[in-house]
Amino acid sequence: MCEFCHQHGEGKKWYLQAKNYSDDLLSDAHRRKFIEEFFSHPEGLGNMVQALDRLAKAPSFVKSVGSRMITRKMKKKHFGQVVPIEEIEEIFGFVNSIARLECICRHTTLGKEKRYCYGISMMMNDIVRGLDKSYLTGPDTIGLEELTKEEAIAAFHEHEKEGLCHTVWAFYTPFIGGICNCDRKDCLAMRSTVTEGIPVMFRGEYVAEVNPDECSGCRQCMRMCQFGAITYSASDKKVSIDKRWCYGCGVCRSICPKDAISLADRSMVPVAAALW
Ligand code: SF4
Ligand code: SF4
Repeated sequence: MCEFCHQHGEGKKWYLQAKNYSDDLLSDAHRRKFIEEFFSHPEGLGNMVQALDRLAKAPSFVKSVGSRMITRKMKKKHFGQVVPIEEIEEIFGFVNSIARLECICRHTTLGKEKRYCYGISMMMNDIVRGLDKSYLTGPDTIGLEELTKEEAIAAFHEHEKEGLCHTVWAFYTPFIGGICNCDRKDCLAMRSTVTEGIPVMFRGEYVAEVNPDECSGCRQCMRMCQFGAITYSASDKKVSIDKRWCYGCGVCRSICPKDAISLADRSMVPVAAALW
């Protein structure tokens, strides 16, 4: 279990606790202000990208201190975790609203509107809908789309086919207000955590395993892994997963024609149990 499960989930997965999506938490004035700022001023993320780039090039001591400071601050305000699709479906079962919206990361990194983010239990009509989002000026902007649980699940299966990794996001921990679909190039959180080594999200509670008896060696799973965790052996004509690199997103499973990949509890896998 990650540290948030101990702090905010009573020893169970924190993102499967209904109380972490509650109106009670959302009524907190500081949290509401943070959410309003987040969606009203995407330029704040642009500043963060520049700061990360500077930090990545800094001497190792400066980078190490700066990284710890950023991680500590983000854990309080806006930290994420990788979650496999079946648990996303579970979350959709108990949240009170789902709305698809613009991905603020991609707005910043690509300058394009891509609808890969989902606001959940934010009483979207009440908070986000009323904000000035005039920065969303592109042709695809159709405002917030409120989705049913079934529509949201179908959309996530499409994102999974694109190889995108599902992540939950706290807005002033422990309130969870968003689920995103991330990739290594365009998602600032993945870029920061995986590419720059400045963690702003936890790995998933799982790691993937391949059943060598089932694997045909087709290598399709390799192109789905954002984390470079899957390697191919020409001698065996099979793939294997390095559990030290696996983030437990489970996306590789969706393309495997042999159903050879499964997820195991991270805490039961010694080489990965302490890696978050
Ligand atoms: S190997 Fe791990 S990190 Fe890579 S796609 Fe599969 S579950 Fe995700
Ligand atoms: S997609 Fe499945 S069968 Fe193909 S290499 Fe990966 S694990 Fe093996």
